[in-house]
Formats: sequence, C-alpha cells, structure tokens
Amino acid sequence: MAGEKIDATQMLRKLVAFDTTSRNSNLDLIDFVRGYLDGHGVKSELVFDHGGAKANLYATLGPREAGGIVLSGHTDVVPVDDQDWETDPWTLTERHNRLYGRGSCDMKGFVACSLALVPELLERGLKEPVHLAFSYDEEVGCLGVHSLIAHIIEHHPKPRLCLVGEPTMMGVVDTHKGIRSYVTTVTGLEAHSSQTQIGVNAVMVAAELINFLGQMGEDLKAQGDATGRFTPPYTTLSVGTIEGGTAVNIIPRHCRFAWEYRSLPGTDAEAPIRRFEDHVTRRVLPALEEKAPGIAAITTVPRSVTPALKPDPGSLAETLAKALAGSNETQAVSYATEAGIFQVHGIPTVVCGPGDILQAHRPNEFVSIEQLEACTTFLRRLADRVCVA
Ligand SMILES: [Zn+2]
Repeated sequence: MAGEKIDATQMLRKLVAFDTTSRNSNLDLIDFVRGYLDGHGVKSELVFDHGGAKANLYATLGPREAGGIVLSGHTDVVPVDDQDWETDPWTLTERHNRLYGRGSCDMKGFVACSLALVPELLERGLKEPVHLAFSYDEEVGCLGVHSLIAHIIEHHPKPRLCLVGEPTMMGVVDTHKGIRSYVTTVTGLEAHSSQTQIGVNAVMVAAELINFLGQMGEDLKAQGDATGRFTPPYTTLSVGTIEGGTAVNIIPRHCRFAWEYRSLPGTDAEAPIRRFEDHVTRRVLPALEEKAPGIAAITTVPRSVTPALKPDPGSLAETLAKALAGSNETQAVSYATEAGIFQVHGIPTVVCGPGDILQAHRPNEFVSIEQLEACTTFLRRLADRVCVA
C-alpha cells in the first residue's frame, strides 16, 4: 500500500487542527481519518447521528474474524470558550517537551498514536484483528458511542476486549464511576409579585428541590465507598445550571435546572433518581396542583446515562493491559468514560491512555512527548502479540 506514514506527533497536529468541539460536526476529522486509512487499504464504516452532521468510525485491521482488540477513542473535545489560552488551541504547539492544544490530552493523543501505528501493524501482518472505534459526542454524555457499539454487535463478531485510551498516564484503570444526568423543569403560575397567595413561584419550588438534592448528596456521602478506592470515596451529586424567572416583580412561571450524580460501581444507580421522583410526587407536587390545577408541573427528563465500569479482576482486558503497560496495579478514577458502555455489552474493557486527566478540559491543555512515546511503546507491545512478524 502506498499510504502515508505520519508519526504520532504529526498525526496529533493534524487531529488537533480540526475544531471538533462537541457542538460542531466532526466530519472533517472523520474524512481525514477515513482517507488516511483508505490510503493503507483499510475500509472504514461510519455510523452517523440523526442529523448526519457527526459520525462514529469503525475500522478493522487484519483478518476479518471473531475476536480482536478494540482501540477506542472519542473525536470530540470540550469548548475553549472563556478560557485563557497562551497558544492557539487548534495549533499543536511544542514547548518544553509538552504538546499544547485542545484535545491533545483528552483524547486525540491516544487516537493519534493508534493511527500512527497503522502502517506498522499492516506491514508486520496481523494474526488477530485490531479494531479502531472512534466516537462523537463523548464530552456531552457519551452519546455517540451507543450507536457505534450497537453497530459493532449487529454487524460484526464480538471483539475479544477493548482498550479505551482516555488519559490515565498510561496506568491501567479497571473501574470508574457512572453518571446519570437530568434536566428538571418546574412550571408554576405567573402573578404580580404582590399577590403571592395566587401564584406558584417556580424558582422557589426549584430552590426547594435543589435543597432536597443537597440533602441527598449528604446522605450519599454518608454511605461512603466500601472499596476505599475512589476520590472522593462516595457517590457525588451536583446541580450544574439553573435558569428561570423574568423580572423581580413577576412571580416566575418557569425554572429549569440540570443536575447529575456519579455513582460508585456496584451501587444501585437508579436509587437517587427514584428517591427524588418519589419526593416530587408525594411531597411537592400535591400542594402545587391544589393551587394551580392542570398548570403546575414538575418534570425530570434524563439527559444521559453512562454506566460505571466495574472491576473485573483477571479479565482479558485487564490482563493484557497490565502486561502491555508493564504494571501489576490497577487504578480507580472518578471520571466516567465509554468503557462502562462496552462492558455492559459484554466486552471486557479497561481504560489506559496517555496524558494526565488534570490537563483535560482546562486552558493550555497539553500532553507530554514522553507520554505519547509511552503510549506508542504500549501499542508496539500490543503489535508484538497480535502480529505475525
Ligand atoms: Zn475524554
């Protein structure tokens, strides 16, 4: 094949140059990756979102047979809005052995290392397939990967295991928390603010509900973490945004807030939402309905569901990743990844990738050259196992 050879840093430079902030299309990046793989004789399958503006990419290197190892990454990045960057976030910039740019760490670094290794994997000849699985909309609730995994399960034999390359400083992460996120909307009854006896104040009802969530957060904290592996050692709950009301002298009709909780693996992830809904239905709503029948309402709509990654000691994924990383240890992290979703579909999965999660989502995000090299070493060891030569 006369495909282009691009080293990991150059590949990262190309990937970072695409502004794949989750609100944008990722198709320019996907087209580039598809063209690159095409050049090496590797066909890609795309799984589009409903509007056709974004796509997941799935490509298999080597024999078309059961099993194989999935290298998984997301192509989207978080916004740079209101962040103070010292360099252009879309131009990979090297300073003091660090490569700065949005997504350099989270997680185009891993995607770049995987892509850069493609020519070598093909030249050495694969005896077991290696699958590239690149998703969209991870940063807004792991939304894209669901259809990607569904596509894999429907059209291909099940892969043997999956490695998700989110930044772990190349440590092997065998467990992470799960996320449930919701938007709660309170509809009240507008009135002049001097006539509180006839209005239903949506903002004040929302405040009550948020107060209840605060109490739930305290209770979850008190329940703790039996494994002692997580920081912080409990399920966390947080309200992230709130909006409502029109003017100080109008009793507000509308208030909406977005909230989430991050559950420890092995706990009942539905329990907090059940408790909240129960509180709403039994304690809050009846009084409102009495005051404004047929008008007052409280609705809670799920925004995203990301399952926790459960520890699976001795799994194929854990065993392989430890061997490739040259490590006997596994770690727990509090951020969620797509790994839990692969695991739910019966594919043993761990997280292991270059860069430090502390750099993610911040201005002046970077990945060190040393971490990219460590990732390439890790993937070369993978090649030693799956290649003929
Ligand atoms: Zn990420």
